[in-house]
Amino acid sequence: MPKPPELFEYVGAVHIHTKDSDGSKSHNEIIRIADSYHLDFLLFTDHMTMAHRNCEGWHGRLLSIVGYEIQDKKNENHYLAFGLDEVLPAELSAPEYVRSVREAHGLGFIAHPDEVRKMPEARAYPWTAWGIDVFDGIEIWNHMSAWLEGLDKNSRLKSFLHPRSIIGTPSPKTLARWDEAAERRRVVGIGSLDAHAAPYRWGPFRLTLFPYKIQLQAIRTHVLTETPLPIEDFRKSKEIFLGALRQANAFISNYRWGNARGFRFWCESRRQFALMGESMSFHPSIVFRVELPEPGKIKLICKGRVVAETEGTSAEFPIAGDGAYRVEVLKGEKGWIYSNHIKIFPSRQREPERPQRFEGGREVEHPKGPQKEHSGHEPRRLAPNDSNRHPKAANKPQQTAPPPKPQNKGEQGQQKHPSDSRRWRRPRSQKTEKSGQ
Ligand SMILES: [Zn+2]
Ligand SMILES: [Zn+2]
Repeated sequence: MPKPPELFEYVGAVHIHTKDSDGSKSHNEIIRIADSYHLDFLLFTDHMTMAHRNCEGWHGRLLSIVGYEIQDKKNENHYLAFGLDEVLPAELSAPEYVRSVREAHGLGFIAHPDEVRKMPEARAYPWTAWGIDVFDGIEIWNHMSAWLEGLDKNSRLKSFLHPRSIIGTPSPKTLARWDEAAERRRVVGIGSLDAHAAPYRWGPFRLTLFPYKIQLQAIRTHVLTETPLPIEDFRKSKEIFLGALRQANAFISNYRWGNARGFRFWCESRRQFALMGESMSFHPSIVFRVELPEPGKIKLICKGRVVAETEGTSAEFPIAGDGAYRVEVLKGEKGWIYSNHIKIFPSRQREPERPQRFEGGREVEHPKGPQKEHSGHEPRRLAPNDSNRHPKAANKPQQTAPPPKPQNKGEQGQQKHPSDSRRWRRPRSQKTEKSGQ
């Protein structure tokens, strides 16, 4: 039975504002706070500026990447961009900057796509430029948006006192949009903070709305890489990290309900497997597998519908047809973990007798043993290291994991052009077919 590779897990926070725009602390102050909570990375996104790009790099064991949040001239259509060398011209429209980020080989995410507000004095900033379908991903969960969405006069005190547990699940509208888009192409889901830690006047009181230390312990994005990030080489680390994020090998959690480090979701057939962000062709032998660091209610979702569910620390679900599958894990009624999708294409042929080499669903065995060019792809155990499996030690940053065997990725290595990122990684032998993209 094939096994997916050992993965290295990096847990961190996305969409953070600093004093460079409307946040209330500096990059270095926020990095220190995040480090004290054992986060592995921070993705900074000030409005329309990357003034402190010099804060990019490794800070001890914490990876800091500085992108920015783009908006149009009406301050609408907020878009998170990473991997750019400089900010784009301010006068661009949303379709123009989405395209520009892509052309610059950056990585772009629609911010708070379906934001709504109950309080009339608070403006909402939903995404409206859906016509441009070349963005890399969307925020499926934005802490600030989710919090403000539930805020009205009656809930205000509870919302201020319990800013993490007040939020329930991501917006059903956004999840439906994401599931629908995933049938066409890969759309990377991320969870974000939208952290500002802004001062707030409430009658005679002056409060900090969402201190950074609170938000850093709520919605987190977990990025899984197949090689450890080299701490001595920031550029390489950034490339591997953003590459894994681009591939959607990631999931989202609300730390309020438990440390999700160690969650894994993959599918496997007799000869192949696929990780989040990857694809396989339908075969009746495919099963989806889930592993959790602690029990939860596990739901397998396909095309917006729950197709199977169970409770516990692991699950094995048979396949229920083609489509893009993802997993949600709940604690009671509260959303805890949200995986990215695995796409199952309709079968066009029987599963090959002799395994082919795959980009997405991957070959892991060869009848005659590993061949030379496959040297990096011999079966490996799914081995989130022990700290991943045991919640007691789960705060340990994963950079400490032992390095995997050297890999020869060859032409299967990092994708060179962002246009590829919008497609499901597919079996190489089917690359010429057009459907599903
Ligand atoms: Zn925004
Ligand atoms: Zn923001």
